[in-house]
Amino acid sequence: MTAATHSTLFPRVPDSADAVLEGLDPEQRAVATALHGPVCVLAGAGTGKTRAITHRIAYGVRAGMLQPASVLAVTFTNRAAGEMRGRLRQLGAAGVQARTFHSAALRQLQYFWPKAVGGAMPRIVDRKIQLVADAAAACRIRLDRNELRDAAAEIEWSKVTRTVPSDYAAATAKHGREAPRDPAEIAQIYAMYEELKRERAVIDFEDVLLLTVGILQDRQDIAEQVRSQYQHFVVDEYQDVSPLQQRLLELWLGDRDDLCVVGDASQTIYSFTGATPDHLLDFRHRHPGATVVKLVRDYRSTPQVVHLANGLLSQARGRAADHRLELISQRPPGPEPRYTEYTDEPAEAEGAARRIRDLVAAGVPAGEIAILFRTNSQSETYEQALADAGVPYQLRGAERFFDRPEVRKAGAALRAAARFGGNDTLLEDAVDLPSQVRAVLSGEGWTGEPPAGSGAVRERWESLAALVNLAHDFAAARPDATLGDLVAELDERANAQHAPTVQGVTLASLHSAKGLEWDVVFLVGVAEGMVPITYARTDEQIEEERRLLYVGVTRAREQLSVSWALSRAPGGRPSRRPSRFLDGLRPGSTARAVEPGRSPSRKRLGRR
Ligand code: ATP
Ligand code: MG
Repeated sequence: MTAATHSTLFPRVPDSADAVLEGLDPEQRAVATALHGPVCVLAGAGTGKTRAITHRIAYGVRAGMLQPASVLAVTFTNRAAGEMRGRLRQLGAAGVQARTFHSAALRQLQYFWPKAVGGAMPRIVDRKIQLVADAAAACRIRLDRNELRDAAAEIEWSKVTRTVPSDYAAATAKHGREAPRDPAEIAQIYAMYEELKRERAVIDFEDVLLLTVGILQDRQDIAEQVRSQYQHFVVDEYQDVSPLQQRLLELWLGDRDDLCVVGDASQTIYSFTGATPDHLLDFRHRHPGATVVKLVRDYRSTPQVVHLANGLLSQARGRAADHRLELISQRPPGPEPRYTEYTDEPAEAEGAARRIRDLVAAGVPAGEIAILFRTNSQSETYEQALADAGVPYQLRGAERFFDRPEVRKAGAALRAAARFGGNDTLLEDAVDLPSQVRAVLSGEGWTGEPPAGSGAVRERWESLAALVNLAHDFAAARPDATLGDLVAELDERANAQHAPTVQGVTLASLHSAKGLEWDVVFLVGVAEGMVPITYARTDEQIEEERRLLYVGVTRAREQLSVSWALSRAPGGRPSRRPSRFLDGLRPGSTARAVEPGRSPSRKRLGRR
């Protein structure tokens, strides 16, 4: 581990509120110091939005202007929430609630259920698809697996857009949404689905938000209790907020306006689930007194990566695109993005794995490399290729690290060893903290070398290796630390859900890569049919796919590799072509003329 890694894992806590502002540029500072009233930050990828709001909270807390417990920071994923809590802790502002809309709502619902409804909260249904299947069967409508998935998606969309079954047909028409079947049938299944849930006394994921909204709307006393707890709200990735989440936010706020939202309309990638950048883009109209800040300096990526990102955006159409901001890289130049064509998918995966192996051998930490793909089903090929190349990888998001069974067991073992101290024979030969940890974790299955192959054994090993690395970093930052200190640190991190970085290549979908960054990013499968995905048909859907690629490109700090395969399996017909979004941007291609109002792929896709 390098000194740089130590300082990022265990940085010095700024010694004053003003010190928190160091390391922000003037616009970011404007965000951080605007502690009251509505604030809206509109800015492109990598411009420091998340950093600005994190520092804003820390500055407010450190300056004594915000009570930690009165701040609710809403992020898009549990992982992002965990990261934010970790960063706040490093800035000396622990104790702030950072959650997703869903987890914040769930917590409130569980707390207020006995008072608002009485009894215990219903169970959250774990297999929604089965419930949709039962509903369809009860309506005597036959659906295959794909249709079931589509129907479930329509029900979800209806709920987050607050559309009741009887309005479904009209709502799809109004939103130009193509219903997967006769809208009357979907509406019927939706109504039956709701009835079955009631009968079985279960609720679904969307109900958590709907019911919380319902309670806050109906019960003034409860709404007031929530409002007296939370006085300041911060929302990251606001471009992807759904109407239902927006409603919840409004209820939390009441008639107050201490709300700070940040987002990038060009990164709207969840509109298929009912999210819309309109709330972000209309913020100033709804809050005429708002402080609006634009950030254009891109601190994340090299000029080469930024050039491609700007190129992608310049071809974008639609409302989000009208608000695009040209990014200006602040980093020294790096290599040009690489474009590689392969004959088939396994060859593509092998090619990526080989290059990654070379990068790791050349000293790039595996944790600084990511492979991003459009659909989760692409993951497996890459897992195999990485395992074959002997490269460690991680699939799971870091937020659940401390929930993993092997991590819990390892924690218990470390705690026991710390309690018995030097009396433990296991620790007799271990002179320093890292070797003590290695000795204890050897009993849990940790080995100096990773086990062969992929799968569960490998994942368990990666978790233990992450703990060993953490012990190294901790000992380097605090040379006199004992095993007991480390156990305390682990407990604190588990509480803050601040997982150590597992040293492995990240495999993630483009959707789940939102907000994250790596030194080296491999965008794989960038072919027609994948990006844009076959089922993106309307112009809006195609534009969302383009934004998804933009999100992927802007995850890279230094090196970006874009690849595609001409056929799926070895020996297959080479019928694929690279994504249209790269036309005019990758070497050797020409810009494609866009026919207004018509998606160029529609005819071809129809034949599939
Ligand atoms: P995204 O749109 O992808 O969510 P973002 O706008 O939230 O991006 P951040 O993740 O906050 O951007 O920042 C991108 C990177 O730039 C981070 O590594 C961050 O630490 C760094 N960064 C941001 N602002 C500054 C700054 N003023 N000085 C140095 N580094 C910065
Ligand atoms: Mg961000």
